[in-house]
Amino acid sequence: MTRTVVVTGGGTGIGYAVASMFAAEGARVYITGRRESVLSEARSRLGDGVSTIVCDATDPDQIEALRDGLPATVDVLVNNAGGNREFDAPPGGGGGPLGAVGLGGQAGPKPDDLRAMAAGWRSNLEGNLLSAVLTTAALDKQLAPGGAVVHIGSFAADRGAGSYGAAKAAMNSWNIFLARQLGPRDITSNVVAPGYIADTEFFRDRTNQQFHDARVAETMNGRAGYPEDIAGAVVFLASPAARHITAQVINVNGGALTTR
Ligand code: NDP
Repeated sequence: MTRTVVVTGGGTGIGYAVASMFAAEGARVYITGRRESVLSEARSRLGDGVSTIVCDATDPDQIEALRDGLPATVDVLVNNAGGNREFDAPPGGGGGPLGAVGLGGQAGPKPDDLRAMAAGWRSNLEGNLLSAVLTTAALDKQLAPGGAVVHIGSFAADRGAGSYGAAKAAMNSWNIFLARQLGPRDITSNVVAPGYIADTEFFRDRTNQQFHDARVAETMNGRAGYPEDIAGAVVFLASPAARHITAQVINVNGGALTTR
């Protein structure tokens, strides 16, 4: 049976790799994002099994339109859309190269500018948490028994990274609530939490060799993560082999962050 898979933010980076892996399995894949040109370009590379729907995952009207544009049944929902909105701020408001410092939260708005701080926190909570909450709620009735919801979190949730890390930590908490709600319907809900992943648009143009080398040095296997590393974990969580895994956070970070 052909599965229907929805990947938010599927036009680039991790979401693109997830869409590509499901498409290679023969799934019917829908990718979303805010930039139509990026989605069309992704679709032309991914092939006929992939459809695109422009949707800002923070906008309830656009999410309702997405819901109405999807088939009656969705087997897998991947809430991948997100990113650290501090990296979109102009220099002085969280801007500048990252150097060897941590993953975001290191250069947010000054604490005496409460309005800028409120805007920054709202933006990261909306873009990384509310986006997943609203999309999942909208598609709830379409989610099929035996299906899976997978959210892309971050190791920033456990390392501390300002509003971005806080939003991803809140996602981990909400995931437990959601898993409890979906469990009786035989639908799993899990978070895949990447470490440093190279070759995506996440860091905009703010990384440099020093930053890259520092992130790699934190790992036990001496390399950066790549989108396919995350996609592999997502596809596994949506597979028959993972039906008893729910309410969990699966870390994929080369050992950069250890958990018990
Ligand atoms: P990218 O920036 O390449 O991918 C993010 C994708 O999400 C883009 O295609 C973007 O497209 C889309 N997107 C962003 N905001 C929205 C929105 N409001 N509505 C719809 N689509 C949206 O970076 P990554 O692939 O690295 O990021 C994917 C996920 O992985 C994110 O949730 C990120 O937080 C997480 N992550 C990444 C890490 C890394 O090191 N790269 C580490 C840990 C977590 P568009 O702009 O066109 O909307």
